Amino acid sequence: MNLRLDDSSITVAIVGCGGFIGSHLLDAVLERTRWRVFGVDLDFYRLQHRLNHERCEFLCADLADPAVVERIAQFPLVVNLAAICTPSRYMGEACEVIRSNYDHPAALAEACARSGAWLVHFSTSEIYGRTATDSGELVEDESPMLFGPVTASRWSYATAKLLTERFIAGLPGLKWTVVRPFNFVGPYMDFMPGVDGEGIPRVLANFSTALLRGEPLKLVNGGKAKRCFTSVHDAIDFLFALFAAGGAVTDSASGTAPGVFSQAFNVGNAENEVTIAELAGKMRSIFAKVRGVDVSALPEPQNVSGEEYYGAGYDDSMRRMPSVAKAQRLLGFKARIPLDVALEESLSWFVKHYSVEQ
Ligand code: UDP
Repeated sequence: MNLRLDDSSITVAIVGCGGFIGSHLLDAVLERTRWRVFGVDLDFYRLQHRLNHERCEFLCADLADPAVVERIAQFPLVVNLAAICTPSRYMGEACEVIRSNYDHPAALAEACARSGAWLVHFSTSEIYGRTATDSGELVEDESPMLFGPVTASRWSYATAKLLTERFIAGLPGLKWTVVRPFNFVGPYMDFMPGVDGEGIPRVLANFSTALLRGEPLKLVNGGKAKRCFTSVHDAIDFLFALFAAGGAVTDSASGTAPGVFSQAFNVGNAENEVTIAELAGKMRSIFAKVRGVDVSALPEPQNVSGEEYYGAGYDDSMRRMPSVAKAQRLLGFKARIPLDVALEESLSWFVKHYSVEQ
């Protein structure tokens, strides 16, 4: 497979290119390669600066349309980022969440198996399930996956994503790679409730919104859960390491090459682990610095129960620590951006972007 960065005859299809990760990937493809982009999404507000770019073609559509699926699969490299991935929606809209995270990507995988396209599918670190506070590293091909009961509808997302992974891994002839993101953060992440989205976004956008509005940060169940926040720039570097490795595989070896195809990769920064309560402390300090105020002037964080905050059916992963050995061993990739740098970039962007809206 030829994926030389200077080959202008290559087109990459990015499904969900208008989203947080997709918009960063689109920028990186345009900046680091001579490839063309076929971008599919329903929302292009993050891409205003790219809409008339000569190497981009955009389609406003989703994967519910079989003709769109077939068209996407005609490109040699397909990156699928499209998903409903807003935690508050996992509670009330389980069926839509499952359609978006299983039905649609499964249809795309079947089309890619027919066409021969390389499918890079974005899954989630949430497929490891209800991990305990003292659980160790999550290892791609070893760790068990334990979910809460069906009444805990938080797991609608994770189980749909997991079923998609299993479907992809079982499809004869499909050239695939699965990415499991560990709490990516950066500019353009999520939304501000009531301004450009509804519901509860992920924790960083939530905390940033509360800070801008002068409201207390809400610590769900005391903020004891731990996460490894990972800069979106590291995530993009991972993808380029993957493209380079996949592009180096000769056609005769395609589908069987160890290290690239038929692999799921954790993508995360294991050195950036914090509890959510610690995250709240860091975000308050960074906000105070950015605004030039004393941190004591900001409201104290408040504890809230998960059920009260998200509604019935909330459940949580208490620790999500990636093993990063596989990406390092097979692709030579390791995330580099420290937590404080990633948080400051994200929060500064949020403050600048949304200040005019307040
Ligand atoms: N959380 C919180 N306050 C918020 C939003 C989230 O304490 O305003 C917690 C949530 O309960 C979870 C963690 O932060 O333990 C990360 O939640 P997020 O929705 O960002 O994504 P997840 O990693 O759970 O997929």
